[in-house]
Formats: sequence, C-alpha cells, structure tokens
Amino acid sequence: MAADGKLVELPDDAPIQFFDLKAQQASIRPALEQRWTTILDHGRYIGGPEVDECEQKLCEFTGAADAVAVGSGTQALVMPLIALGYGHGDAVFIPGFTYNATANAVLLAGATPVLVDIDPKTFNMDAEDLERKVQRVKGTRNLRARAVIPVDLYGLAADYKAISEVADAHGLVIVGDGAQAFGAKQDGQWLGTLAEITATSFYPTKTLGGYGDGGAILVRDKEMGDLLRSIRWHGTGDNRKESIRVGINGRCDSIQCAVVAEKLGIFEAERQRRKLAAGIYDQRLGGKVEGQVSGQSDEHAYGLYTVRLQDRDSVRAKLQAAGVPTAIYYDTPIHQMPAFEQFAPARGLPECEKASREVLSLPMHPYLSESQVHRVCDALLGALQS
Ligand SMILES: *Cc1c(COP(=O)(O)O)cnc(C)c1O
Repeated sequence: MAADGKLVELPDDAPIQFFDLKAQQASIRPALEQRWTTILDHGRYIGGPEVDECEQKLCEFTGAADAVAVGSGTQALVMPLIALGYGHGDAVFIPGFTYNATANAVLLAGATPVLVDIDPKTFNMDAEDLERKVQRVKGTRNLRARAVIPVDLYGLAADYKAISEVADAHGLVIVGDGAQAFGAKQDGQWLGTLAEITATSFYPTKTLGGYGDGGAILVRDKEMGDLLRSIRWHGTGDNRKESIRVGINGRCDSIQCAVVAEKLGIFEAERQRRKLAAGIYDQRLGGKVEGQVSGQSDEHAYGLYTVRLQDRDSVRAKLQAAGVPTAIYYDTPIHQMPAFEQFAPARGLPECEKASREVLSLPMHPYLSESQVHRVCDALLGALQS
C-alpha cells in the first residue's frame, strides 16, 4: 500500500507503462466487487441508484449546479447542442487540433464546425483567431455564429477568460470539451464550472475513467440539467414514454456510474500523484525541451504530459528502444482528416499543422514511481544528444 494508504505502489524496476489501468484497478477492486454484487442484487442495470450517486458526487467534487451522466464524451458534446436547438445553418467554433469527436459532435447535431487555430504555447484555442473566425462568419450571411467549443487539451483548461470575452461580444454559448481535463482548475474553480456547459468523458484512460464508455455533462443551470435528462431518454417527460422533444438514448448504465463513483474516492490521491510526476518532468526537462505552458491561475489535470520535438519521430524510436512507451495526440489536425477537409480554412491552420508534426506525449499516470519518471527523462535527454 502507498504512503497515502489508498493507491498501490509498483516496484521501481517495473516496466514503464504509458497508462496503467491495472495498478489502478488493484487499488479499488474489493470495493468494485462489492458494487457488482449490489447491482446484480437490485437488477436496475439502467437508471439504478448508482446514476444518482455518481451525478451527486460529480457536483460535490466540481461545484457544478447539476451533472448528467451520459453514454460517452461524444454524447456529452452532442446533447447540449441538441438542447440549445443548434443545427442547420448554425456555426460552432472548435479548435483544429483536437480529438475527432469534437468535430463529429457538431456535425451530428446538424451544425457546421468552423475551425480555429491554436496558441502554440498552450495547444488550446487561440482567442484572437476565434475573434477573426467569428467576424468572417458574420460577414458571409449563410451561417449564424452560435456556440464555441474550447477543448482543454491534455488536461489544461482553455483560456476561458479570453474566450468568454469573444463569446459575450458575439452572443456565443460556450460548451467546454473537458474530455481530457476532469480535475483541472482555473482561477480556483474546478473544470465543470468554467463554462455554462462542460462535457467530459469516462473513457477508461481519461483522468476520471470508467471501465467502458461513459461521460457526463456538467452545467451551471439546473434547468439545463433537466432538459438534458429528458434528451438523454429520447426527449421524454416524466413517464419516459411520450417524446415531447427530440432526444436520443444518451444514458450511462449503472455499472459505469458505480465505477466512476468509486474512482472519485481515489481521484484526489491520483491527481496529486500525477502532479508529482509532472513536477519531475518539468524540473528535468524545463529549458531543454519545449512543453505545454500553463497560465498563472491554472492547475493542469495532467491527463497527458506532452512535449514538442523538432525531430519527433526519431526521438520516439529511440525512446521505444529504451523501453519508454510514448504516444502522439494528434498526428493529423482536424482539417486534414478526409471527413472534415471541406471545413479547412483557405490558409489552413498553421499552428495546428505544426503541433501535429511535433507533439509527443510521455508516460503519465498516477502509478509511475519517481524513479520511473527519472528514467523517462534520462532516456529523452539522452536521445536528444545522440
Ligand atoms: C475522448 C475525447 C472525446 C470523446 O469522448 P468519448 O467518451 O470517447 O466519446 C471528446 N473530445 C476529446 C478532446 C476527447 O479527448
């Protein structure tokens, strides 16, 4: 058992994993087995008491007014757009450097994604380019500027202050894509309260993951929460039979909610371990390797620890040979994916394109030992010199 009494500790010479869901499971397995038994006994596989418990715990943790557990992070992005009534002819601004789900969600709602470039230091949406893109949409007349989806890439909250200024000036609703950033903070506020509406994902490797698909929508307004609960169940009212609006099956099942509720119990301990690992990376790599720059008031959730390398692919091969697994999020920007090419801005998105050639994510999870993090740093600094 770990010093904090909650998380298992691995031996220092254990192979380095990029993520480590096994070690995490060992920390909570007896509690989960107890929960399986409870669910098998009550038999409410959909809509069981675990759903309310999970939603309540999400509100307690983040300070959000309401939380609605849904079937995936993608659903958590589509459903608010349905709730807001956005569709044909509506422009939704998203960064061009993100997971494809952000773009798909806009298109599934029937709206049009307008791609915005990123700030090279934070990898998040550049508010100045957002302003330019909004102006352009306003000049064309065939689209209405409606919403913006900032993405909190790798666990760093987007610049909500600057984005809010642009959004307020143009009447845009902000729907945050916090799929990678549960546990991030900005100005002392947890992610989940930084925007009117925040989507997050419980995909197993996210900072708050389940053991399957799931997600949640965190809102500042309880009425929006009720509307989303209706949309989650095919737009029905209290009888759950008659559709009073269009909706989908957007539910999160009892088992996933139970896993997430249990994981919230070790979340703070895990968050501290991620910060410890990131602190070592910062200290060893700072000034030698470019990284992701947090603002003064930011607390990074460290879903991923990502650096920028001119010679990325050869460094990556050397790390692999040294037993250090790495990953690339993402090697293709949104506007260069076949499904979304038609939304490419005429002059492209230079910073998204550059980032996609240079980013490399290093091992990051709460079960890395300090000496393992040092081994990763040794391997990376060695690879840069050879
Ligand atoms: C993972 C992710 C999503 C989608 O979440 P799913 O649960 O996989 O549907 C959306 N946006 C971003 C930025 C993500 O990383």
